[in-house]
Amino acid sequence: MVLVDHIRCAYCGSCVSVCPVGALDLAETRLLVDQSCTDCGLCVSVCPTGALHTEPFRDIGAGGTMWPLRRRYDLIVIGAGPGGSIAAREAARQGLSVLLLEKRQEIGSPVRCAEGIAHEQLIPFIAPDSHWISATVTGAEFTVAGDDGRTETTRGEGGSGYVLERRVFDRVLAEQAASAGAEVRVKTAATALLMDGRAVRGVRVRSPFGEAEVESRVVIGADGVESRVGAWAGLDTTLPHQDTMSCAQFLLAGIDIDPACTCYYVGMDVAPGGYAWVFPKGERRANVGLGVQANVAGRPALDYLVRFVESQPHLAQGSPVTLVTGGVPVAPQLSRFVTNGLMLVGDAARQVDPLTGGGIANAMAAGRLAAEVATECIAAGDVSVAALSAYETRWHAGLGRKLARRYRLKERFPPSERASRECMRVFIVAVGGK
Ligand code: FAD
Repeated sequence: MVLVDHIRCAYCGSCVSVCPVGALDLAETRLLVDQSCTDCGLCVSVCPTGALHTEPFRDIGAGGTMWPLRRRYDLIVIGAGPGGSIAAREAARQGLSVLLLEKRQEIGSPVRCAEGIAHEQLIPFIAPDSHWISATVTGAEFTVAGDDGRTETTRGEGGSGYVLERRVFDRVLAEQAASAGAEVRVKTAATALLMDGRAVRGVRVRSPFGEAEVESRVVIGADGVESRVGAWAGLDTTLPHQDTMSCAQFLLAGIDIDPACTCYYVGMDVAPGGYAWVFPKGERRANVGLGVQANVAGRPALDYLVRFVESQPHLAQGSPVTLVTGGVPVAPQLSRFVTNGLMLVGDAARQVDPLTGGGIANAMAAGRLAAEVATECIAAGDVSVAALSAYETRWHAGLGRKLARRYRLKERFPPSERASRECMRVFIVAVGGK
């Protein structure tokens, strides 16, 4: 039976099309081979990435010829989300040699985001561009569903924000990092840290060309909510169950909504411990999703989402053309997100607004700050935890303080009180800045 190397497989399906016995199936997220395979090898010859074999795999050697990696960089950034790409771009602009690693084959995809960001949060990092902005929003509407089933809606105007096209936005940030001189690699995962005692001195990487060890003076872990980099270095990044928002979202097409207004729905019935959102994407489309607090919701977020859409006639008329799922760390600030030779940024460092779940701008701010501190420490020849802690100190003095305050506010209102007038006032102020 033909063997699949899932590291190399890029899920294109060309193998399926030539199989004479129908033994191959491109399932939702992986290629499956069944017992009817005759080992004829036709699929092997059409596979563009060399992921199929009729014999056990050989390691074809680190580096290959197409994507050679240097042995050593000043900085390796793991993860090309907004946090990682901004870190790589800023460090490269400061003259550091930078390697930016992304395990997925396409930066920004699949999207795990509702894509909302305020104008003032975006412009410190990149000028707005219609190539990756789906909608400009100027108003917000809040609907609260009480326990008695009655709903109350308030509307606010003013302010300016965007609903992004993150599939393009994330890639543009990585392209900017590349233009600044960073080396960017896709389908290349960090699989471990190289350690020198308790100090991080590089990264073990796995790509379609094999595995390699690459050294660096500093590593930035920007590997998102699923981060493992911090734990590899001994940092405690475990996300408390009650601080995890479990989210599901459809991109709905063919709906009639106000194209310049974001809508929020709060209530234990709608989304226990969280909220539902409708973010317009232009052309009669919107990101319609919700997040539920994992420890109080009795059912999966997707079930709540389907029920929510069905309860809103103007949404129920649409068709889901994309399903997005993801977890959001609405957690307290980590006590440590720096160690010898390593810094964490963005979702990996749980730098998300605990009230709204917004994390794009925080990740970019953290990426910039981490790059700044890495540049200073490398220039001074000291990348110890004591030196790199300047990143933690500056973070806590700025955005970190705001996020800590927001976490305390979230804790003041247990899930059953999130629809109260007082909590709604707090929430409205918080999303106003999202
Ligand atoms: P990510 O964007 O998650 O990027 C991490 C990257 O690291 C990924 O590309 C991943 O593939 C890569 N990676 C992971 N491990 C490895 C490895 N070992 N090797 C190489 N690469 C690796 N925020 C907002 O501001 N506004 C919103 O409207 C909003 N809505 C959201 C809706 C949902 C449903 C969800 C789930 C989140 C939402 N967020 C929102 C949060 C926002 O998406 C994140 O906070 C933001 O993407 C964090 O950026 P990041 O760079 O830290 O991580």
